Amino acid sequence: MGNDFFYAQPVKIWFGDGCFERLGEVLDELKVRRAVLVCGRHFAGEAQLLKEKLPAICAIFSAVEPNPQLSGVAETARLARDCQADAVIGIGGGSAMDTAKYAAAIAPGDAEAEQYYHGALPLPEKALSIICVPTTAGTGSEVTQVSVISNGSEKRTTNHPSFMPKAAVVDPLLTLSVSPYTTMITGLDAMAHALEGCWSRNHQPITDLLAAEAVRLILENLDTAYRDGAAKEARAALSYASLLAGLSFALPKTAGCHACSYPLSENWHLPHGEACAFTLDSFVRINADDRLETLCRKAGLSGTKALADRIRAFKQEAGLKTRLADLGEVDIPALASACAVHPLMQNNPVRMDEAALEKMFEALA
Ligand code: NAD
Repeated sequence: MGNDFFYAQPVKIWFGDGCFERLGEVLDELKVRRAVLVCGRHFAGEAQLLKEKLPAICAIFSAVEPNPQLSGVAETARLARDCQADAVIGIGGGSAMDTAKYAAAIAPGDAEAEQYYHGALPLPEKALSIICVPTTAGTGSEVTQVSVISNGSEKRTTNHPSFMPKAAVVDPLLTLSVSPYTTMITGLDAMAHALEGCWSRNHQPITDLLAAEAVRLILENLDTAYRDGAAKEARAALSYASLLAGLSFALPKTAGCHACSYPLSENWHLPHGEACAFTLDSFVRINADDRLETLCRKAGLSGTKALADRIRAFKQEAGLKTRLADLGEVDIPALASACAVHPLMQNNPVRMDEAALEKMFEALA
């Protein structure tokens, strides 16, 4: 690249142990009068207590599941319309935050969620305010204009300015209850964001810096948090790393590894982080170049081979799926073909056509 780039980051970010206590102040600062709170079941009890404490919360949708469905978006938008909300608060992992983002974007309209999802109608011009509170350290959804929503088995990523949160409240203490498995896959999802932001064809100097620091922090802390969920310093480092990784891919967008994650999730129901981790070390080897070597050295490693080996070791430690044989029956040409046509594949620095992807998957058979 030359020395010209564009960088912008519009989200107000509050970070730190205990900062979730200041959610009321954040709502005041954003002049929120009525907000719908969206969360998964793990937060349902606390959501009720929060509603009693913060009168601006007018309704709660607490049934978000992993790989969030359009039906949850529709229900949240209905609640927002009914109580004339001016904001939606997403508290949870990427699934709850993405549900909140999509619902905030469509609530100002009067059509059904399906009509926006299938492109029959453009999204309304102005979204409700979005406040994101991550409770996993992985997706970075709190700082991106991306929302990933499924309709049945179809999983669709939409990138639109209406999904950009107004505020992110990142309190690492909220992640202490995340299970070891989810800690590992979300940590590797954040690693994938940082690496893909760095090797993306649209990378730039500021996002490269964010990516290198995110990778360094994940390498130093993921093992500790996986083994001891109560390790506060490691949890805080991973929440920070996830935030940096989100900022590092928000503009450059992700590439080959994320492109492959969609067929892997849709066909074999791998959770997002595990689906990204499945090919991440392969893509480190394929995309290895001078820039990635520089990132590795900044992250404290000897080079790209050491990085690929560390990612593989993380996967083995947590018993993640590492071979196609672990998935069941796989038609390699069909899988390669589905990955090749995903739009994010165009963003990979090394051209990956069907033949190249078949070769990669055959090595993972
Ligand atoms: P998730 O939100 O699906 O949560 C995984 C599980 O962990 C759920 O059962 C949830 O209830 C539980 N959980 C969450 N926080 C917890 C906590 N603190 N304690 C105990 N349990 C907790 O998982 P995720 O990996 O955070 O998000 C994945 C989703 O985000 C996928 O749909 C993925 O496609 C999407 N995603 C979005 C972006 C974006 O920029 N919008 C980026 C990456 C991924």
